[in-house]
Amino acid sequence: MRNPNGENVMSTEADVVVVGGGSTGCGVVRDLARRGLDTVLVEKGNLTHGTTGRMHGLLHSGGRYAVSDQKSARECIEENRVLRDIAGHCVEETGGMFVKRPEDDEEYFQKKLEGCRACDIPAEVIGGEEARRREPYLARDVEKAIVVPDSAVDPFRLCVANAADAREHGARIETHAEVTDVLVEDGDVVGVEVEHDSGPGKRVHGKAGTTEEIRARYVVNAAGAWAGQLGEMAGVDVEVRPSKGVMTVMNVRQVDTVINRCRPKGDADIVVPHETACILGTTDEEVDDPEDYPEEEWEVDLMIETLSELVPALTDARTLRSFWGVRPLYEPPGTGTDDPTDITRDYFLLDHDERDDLPGMTSIVGGKLTTYRMMAESISDHVCEKLDHDAECDTADVPLPGSEDFSVLREYMDEFGLRSPIGRRSVQRLGSKADDVLTGTDPNPVVCECEGVTRAEVRNAIDEAGSDLNAVRLRTRASMGNCQGGFCTHRIAGELARDYPEPVVREAEDELYQERWKGQRHALWGRQLSQAMLNHLLHATTMNRDGDPAGLDAGVDFGAFDAGPNSADDAADGGGAGAGTAAADGGHAETDGGVEPSDGARGGIDGARGGIDGDR
Ligand SMILES: Cc1cc2nc3c(=O)[nH]c(=O)nc-3n(C[C@H](O)[C@H](O)[C@H](O)COP(=O)(O)OP(=O)(O)OC[C@H]3O[C@@H](n4cnc5c(N)ncnc54)[C@H](O)[C@@H]3O)c2cc1C
Repeated sequence: MRNPNGENVMSTEADVVVVGGGSTGCGVVRDLARRGLDTVLVEKGNLTHGTTGRMHGLLHSGGRYAVSDQKSARECIEENRVLRDIAGHCVEETGGMFVKRPEDDEEYFQKKLEGCRACDIPAEVIGGEEARRREPYLARDVEKAIVVPDSAVDPFRLCVANAADAREHGARIETHAEVTDVLVEDGDVVGVEVEHDSGPGKRVHGKAGTTEEIRARYVVNAAGAWAGQLGEMAGVDVEVRPSKGVMTVMNVRQVDTVINRCRPKGDADIVVPHETACILGTTDEEVDDPEDYPEEEWEVDLMIETLSELVPALTDARTLRSFWGVRPLYEPPGTGTDDPTDITRDYFLLDHDERDDLPGMTSIVGGKLTTYRMMAESISDHVCEKLDHDAECDTADVPLPGSEDFSVLREYMDEFGLRSPIGRRSVQRLGSKADDVLTGTDPNPVVCECEGVTRAEVRNAIDEAGSDLNAVRLRTRASMGNCQGGFCTHRIAGELARDYPEPVVREAEDELYQERWKGQRHALWGRQLSQAMLNHLLHATTMNRDGDPAGLDAGVDFGAFDAGPNSADDAADGGGAGAGTAAADGGHAETDGGVEPSDGARGGIDGARGGIDGDR
């Protein structure tokens, strides 16, 4: 068939289309597929492309909301328990503390404690000395703390596990497929139009550049901070109030417990240990566009300065990178809140039939990653009712793929002859697939030292993700540690070269390298500047990835370098290797010798070793 512009359009059908491949959309597609509805998820980027891939990774105990928003607090503790059960391989049970410094209000401390107890959140008070015994890098003047069951959660694994289960139940998961129109006929929503933009390898779903009309009995708008844009396509207002927050990644785990400041909501009040790093957060500032907002250095400085009041070692610690995410906050009409920190963290279903006289579509807005499953259950109940489909939700009881039998972890470490902590991490990442992936006869060297990722894991991720090395990164964490891909990017590309032709490998390597570079631009001082310079020298000079004319003479296509770290775009927005050099020359006077290749090399190698040994 042809669309009104005369272009060829493929047309397919489904019961439900879910727009958005973040935690909410992945939860919804799993739930609906398990209830027997023919469901398609469409996501314009990769899974977790939006806010879900840009958050702290805190599995809330609810303690954070125990004073200000007790409904959210109760939902958090309920889901915290569920996720530990069904997704053990995505959760690290770190525990959490709300710590009080001398200047923090005693009355608020007591309110927090009472609030936790009122919301059924286990809460125990310990003294400053005991808090420091558990976390030796806590400030000496921390007086006391409330211990709660906060945890760290891996959003990437969680979303992939939900999508995998959905697929096992017949759902279609379409990534790199952007909804460009919501189809409305005779006053009803009847589906969406998507444009496919595929990459090479297994991430090809539709042919790049083709358009598909997916006609469906119901559309779920789970586009997070972009939900307003979907609403606009359907001709309705979805008043999401996107609010940005910065997060800064430190090179090692200065703490093993989630550390929260015990005071009313404010900037820079949490440190979340995550895999081999710590994530400092955050801020809360309303923005107009979820994809175009300023990323400012003072925000990063604020994280380090304020949070070093709780963990003084942060002042001298090495910062790896910073990134920003945008909350999909929603304020019910008539609330009139100016300050985004006051907007509720609760979620809402906007039934466009009831609100706007537009049947066939509901938006789900607000909420948190921690409550994604509960959000998915509510909207799936709602869709089933609309479609007169009688099926119960079972997502709170059925474990996600990979989470079965988590207790075998320790045995696997010995069994595979992998030394700690690499074996433990590999097995935790792989969950119930560990046996299949790690028991082979081929040599299994470590490919990424900082994160302890072995060749078998990388090869398994390539088998699953195809040539998209950023997808391999998200599955394994390779290139996410101290060296930020400086050493392992080339080795990972080497693994890809076994199965793919050179141009595909080159492009995939550049994409991965560019993705790593993006965040490092916000951490170009001290040791990380040394590392960035070393990475650049390895990439551009040693590996000859900067378009050496000799290569051009030999007919090698260096087009891929346009997207690389020397690109005009990057230079224009202050990034790229040029910016790194400028920072070394003119910026941070305290630079510890990053411009000298030999110093840089030493800094980088030390740093990489720190990642494995937990150099605290
Ligand atoms: C700084 C910060 C820290 C946070 N920390 C935590 C935390 O520690 N714990 C916690 O529980 N929560 C946290 N949150 C909240 C949590 O991250 C979000 O509530 C949650 O990830 C939102 O998920 P989502 O699926 O609704 O949205 P998203 O993850 O944004 O998913 C929406 C998806 O829709 C896609 N999309 C948009 N438009 C289209 C289109 N036209 N076609 C196809 N696809 C489209 C986007 O690409 C995106 O992937 C944090 C949020 C921020 C900003």
